[in-house]
Amino acid sequence: MRRLVSGLAGVGMLATLLTGAATAASEPAHVPGGPCLQPDQNVSLSSVAGYADVIRELDRIERTSKGLVSVASAGTSGEGRELYYATVGTGPTTFWLQARIHGNELHSTEAVLQILDYLASGAPDARSIRENLTVVVIPMYNPDGAEANIRQSTTPNRIDLNRDWENFAQPETVAFWKLWRDVAPELALDLHHMGQAPVVEGTNDLNQFQIGARSIDPSRMTAEQWLTNRQMAMASVDALERYGLANVAHYPLIDITNAGLSRMLMGGTAPAGEQPVLQSPTKGAIFYEVRSVGQKSNGQLENLFRIPTMAVLRAAADGSLAAQDVSGYEDLPFASQEQCGES
Ligand SMILES: [Zn+2]
Repeated sequence: MRRLVSGLAGVGMLATLLTGAATAASEPAHVPGGPCLQPDQNVSLSSVAGYADVIRELDRIERTSKGLVSVASAGTSGEGRELYYATVGTGPTTFWLQARIHGNELHSTEAVLQILDYLASGAPDARSIRENLTVVVIPMYNPDGAEANIRQSTTPNRIDLNRDWENFAQPETVAFWKLWRDVAPELALDLHHMGQAPVVEGTNDLNQFQIGARSIDPSRMTAEQWLTNRQMAMASVDALERYGLANVAHYPLIDITNAGLSRMLMGGTAPAGEQPVLQSPTKGAIFYEVRSVGQKSNGQLENLFRIPTMAVLRAAADGSLAAQDVSGYEDLPFASQEQCGES
């Protein structure tokens, strides 16, 4: 990162975000079903970390980490941006933490930067995580889409990067597939925002968090993978329930084989000229969907990513993940697909 030009512009802004003291986005009007994003609501993007902020923050964390964090690039995006990732920890289990594969899903980037900063700290649990895990942090998987504030990539193709782990049409997918192959993560977590503002089925409670333990049907996973996915899911849900007010629901049941997490679990594909990974190293791979931008303060949105992610990291590090009770998983509600406030 040293070759990158560092500047002060934006550092204060991001630092403010990282301490959670940013001015809250205006709270939408209350309607039956809870606070909803209004069609005419102006969502400010000025307080959201862009690509330049990610570069500056990764550089700061690396420089101040006393060698605990190293930053590298997995390759370049379609528009030529470096695909940065940070590595922290020296433990035997590699944990892949990925944010913003969809460029317009904003707050996962700040959340993983906060987590990276914490993992480089002197806190006892941070040290334990570093000793037991090697955490690979990708704060902005899709920098071109993030800069354009769109879901997809921009060039050479405008496609959903989370549907590209079979065709490998995009340089981002090729780069991150190679990184996945090389670091061989046992566990993976992918952070998203919901496009809708649903309510928890049978209630009027605004659904703030959906747990995605199955990007593919469990029949496509090994028994160990399906168990590990549910253990990661319930470690996340338990942490959110202690936090309160998350109104957790299942993500809708899907079976999408060309998504990144799906192919991490199944293996079997590779970019042109590369050999597929026959035996996947990945035993657990799940995703979060946090309620959307503009509906709540930035700090709370980041908490909804940070709290469950830290719980899974701690559980993976101290071994309790393997003993996590999954009996409550099937009882988790789904969310209504109706728009918030319409029911
Ligand atoms: Zn997404």
